[in-house]
Amino acid sequence: MDVGKNVNNINIGKRVACNTTSSCGECYNCKNWQISRCSNQVASSGAFAEFSNMPLSSAIEIPENMSFEVAAMTEPASCCISGIEMIEYKKDSKVLIFGSGIMGMLCLLFVKEKNINYVVVSEPNPSRRKMALKMGADFVIDPMSKNYKKEIEELSGDSGYDIFIEAVGNPILLAEGISNLKPRGQALMIGVHPKNSNLQHDLYDLHYKEIKLFGAFGRGDYFSSVPKRIEKFGLDKLVTKTFKLEEINKAIELTAKGSGMKYMISPWKK
Ligand SMILES: [Zn+2]
Repeated sequence: MDVGKNVNNINIGKRVACNTTSSCGECYNCKNWQISRCSNQVASSGAFAEFSNMPLSSAIEIPENMSFEVAAMTEPASCCISGIEMIEYKKDSKVLIFGSGIMGMLCLLFVKEKNINYVVVSEPNPSRRKMALKMGADFVIDPMSKNYKKEIEELSGDSGYDIFIEAVGNPILLAEGISNLKPRGQALMIGVHPKNSNLQHDLYDLHYKEIKLFGAFGRGDYFSSVPKRIEKFGLDKLVTKTFKLEEINKAIELTAKGSGMKYMISPWKK
C-alpha cells in the first residue's frame, strides 16, 4: 500500500474496505444521501487486481479482527441496508423474502435487527435454505415444491404479508411477491431487474391495495458505517471459498450457476 503526495502517510498499512465509487461530498446527490450517484465520480482502476487506486475517502478502516473476506461484503451490505431503511416496520410485521443469495441473506440479517419475528424466505437451493435458517429466518420454503403456493399462503395468515423483499431480480417473482402483500403492504426491489423489463401486475390491485413499491439502488451514505455494523453477523459463514486471482473465471462460473453462497477472490492467496 502507498499513498499520494497529498495524503498523510499515517494511512499506510491500515486495513480497509473500499467503496466501489468515489464521492465528492459537495454535489447535490452527495448532500442528499445519494453518494452512489455522485456527479463528480473519479474512475477507479478496478479491484480484480493486485493493486488498485482510489481516493482516500473511498477507503474505510475495518475492525481489527474482521477478515478481508467479510470486509469485502461491505458494499453489498451497504446496498441492502440502504434499501431496508426505506421500509417502515412494526413489531408484528410479516416479511417475505424471495432469494437467499448474498443480497437476500444480508437483507434477512438487517430485517431481523428490527426485532421482526416472522420472516419467510423462499429459495430453491437447499444449502441456501439451510443457511437462511442458520442466519435467523423463521421459515424457509422451496419454490420448486408441489405445495409451494399453499405453503406461502398458509404462512401469510388470512391477510397477506406486510413486507416483501425481492432479492433475485426477476420481474415475474416481483409481481408474484406483490400479489402476496396485504393492503398498504411494502415491496422492496433489492434484486437488479433487466433493463426494459416490465412489471406484469394488475395496476388496479396496486391502486386498490395502496401498495408501496421501493426501488433500491446504491449504498445511500451507509458505506463508512457498515464494517462495524456487520461485525456481529458472523458473515465468514457465508464465504464458500476464496480463490486465487488467476482462478477468477472458476469463481465467476460457480457464481453464475448459483451454487454455494459467496466466492471471494484474493490477489495475495498463494
Ligand atoms: Zn458528489
